[in-house]
Amino acid sequence: SHNHHDHHVALLSSPGMGHIIPFLQLAKRLLTHQKINITKATLFTISFNSSSSSSKAQKDLLQSAIDDQSLSIDIIHLPPIHISNHNDDDVTIETKIAITMHEAPKLFATAISNMESKPTMIITDYFLSQALPLVKKNKMKVPMYLFVPTNAWVVALGFHTPKLDKEVEGEYHSHGDSPIQIPGCKAMHPSDLFQMMEDRTHRLYREYLLMCEALSLADGIFVNTLEELEPKTFEALRSGKITKVPIYPIGPVIREINNKQNRINDVLDWLDKQEEESVIYVSLGSGYSMSYEQIKEMALGLEQSGQKFVWSLRPPSTKAGNNYHYFTAGEDAETNKNGHSSLQEENLTPESKNGETNSVTKSQQSSDYLPEEFYRIQRNGIVLMDWAPQLEILSHPSIGGFVSHCGWNSIMESVSCGVPIICWPLFAEQMMNASMLEDEEEVGIAIRLNVSMSTKNVASEEIGKAIRKIMDKGDTEGFVIRKRVKELKHFAEKAWSHDHGSSYFALSRIIDLNGAS
Ligand code: UDP
Repeated sequence: SHNHHDHHVALLSSPGMGHIIPFLQLAKRLLTHQKINITKATLFTISFNSSSSSSKAQKDLLQSAIDDQSLSIDIIHLPPIHISNHNDDDVTIETKIAITMHEAPKLFATAISNMESKPTMIITDYFLSQALPLVKKNKMKVPMYLFVPTNAWVVALGFHTPKLDKEVEGEYHSHGDSPIQIPGCKAMHPSDLFQMMEDRTHRLYREYLLMCEALSLADGIFVNTLEELEPKTFEALRSGKITKVPIYPIGPVIREINNKQNRINDVLDWLDKQEEESVIYVSLGSGYSMSYEQIKEMALGLEQSGQKFVWSLRPPSTKAGNNYHYFTAGEDAETNKNGHSSLQEENLTPESKNGETNSVTKSQQSSDYLPEEFYRIQRNGIVLMDWAPQLEILSHPSIGGFVSHCGWNSIMESVSCGVPIICWPLFAEQMMNASMLEDEEEVGIAIRLNVSMSTKNVASEEIGKAIRKIMDKGDTEGFVIRKRVKELKHFAEKAWSHDHGSSYFALSRIIDLNGAS
């Protein structure tokens, strides 16, 4: 047993704030856990030979971890991954992800075998599980774990995919509406399927299959979810019918709330002045840029809802989704590829210097890429164009709902704050997330918008209606949803209690599961 040794853990995160935030938090929680003797953590990050530099938000986050004298965290940037000989913009995002899933594990395996003081355990991102066979091949005898920055249903799908691959002919979505079945789990509508399974002829699908096949080499899998959010899925996973690998819920692994530091941002002062649960928060993730059309419908929807709002908005792209979150996450507004300048921050703060409201007028800035409707609604809320203090916003008592793209970190944050969700899923596993969140027999804390498959847009009437439903104290459907999310908030709080918390305890299993040693 390792119990008497001090452990050194090496972690490998996928690129993007949606992975780096929970990975850094996991490292901190391992180092401060009273039942685990891990004394050192080395977090490996991935970069590219591409024009997309890492964001200021990401640099700040990593730097603050290095600066924290109370924790022994090292950050190592792996050598950049070579994407192509041509302009990176010619390579689709799917291809970039596929290359990352293949190349990053190699770089990581090499890096850890060259380390002077070798790690005594490794934790890689679920999507980079191809590292496991490589580490094994290098004869490094360390326990190997995976951390999943999304839910257990996705993990069940991952273990079941090699079987589906053998059994299903043609594309998974070419069999009408007949659902995809994973033993013991919620049935999945083909249109909600994980995006990596969308095109079976694509390299991304082949890498995904290799990733799935490598999952069985893990000594244990830790998922950023709550037992109470997915009881049925955990029962199925424990039954042994899907896998024998032990899988534990350790969520919510989210950032600590930092009310003091983030008071730099006036949005919290503005929220202080609003009524309880009267403001809707809107964010479609750290990297996704809404199209002109999406911004227009969102603005009209907010107007029709009559509610006050806080909107975290990346500068718009010319076509929906060309700023896919996995790589551009958290990039600064100024670096937007379209070359548009972002709105001046001072125009967007709640009370500008002359004491006026936060209205943004067209004449105040040069670009004309935002729709008129966007300017019309400014008096009723706040738009944040740089990195928003999302967790501090969600935890503010004035917030009553969250229009979200259903990135899993956002969901864990919303659950932790007891905020009901309006789902506007876009990519990756977000459609799966939305479908379990809206299902009363599963989670039941959300209303799902009808998102166009091609444009990823939603009609404003629907947005307005959904916001009213979730905020209106008299609405019965809204009442049930609000009540349920508050119950889950309670479970989320308990999960990390140092006495009997289920997630706190589950993470300590990392010491008992040293199968490979
Ligand atoms: N986030 C933030 N400020 C922003 C945008 C995002 O703090 O302006 C954080 C958010 O709280 C969450 C993460 O970035 O922790 C985004 O992760 P998620 O899985 O929700 O979506 P992704 O950005 O990966 O699509």
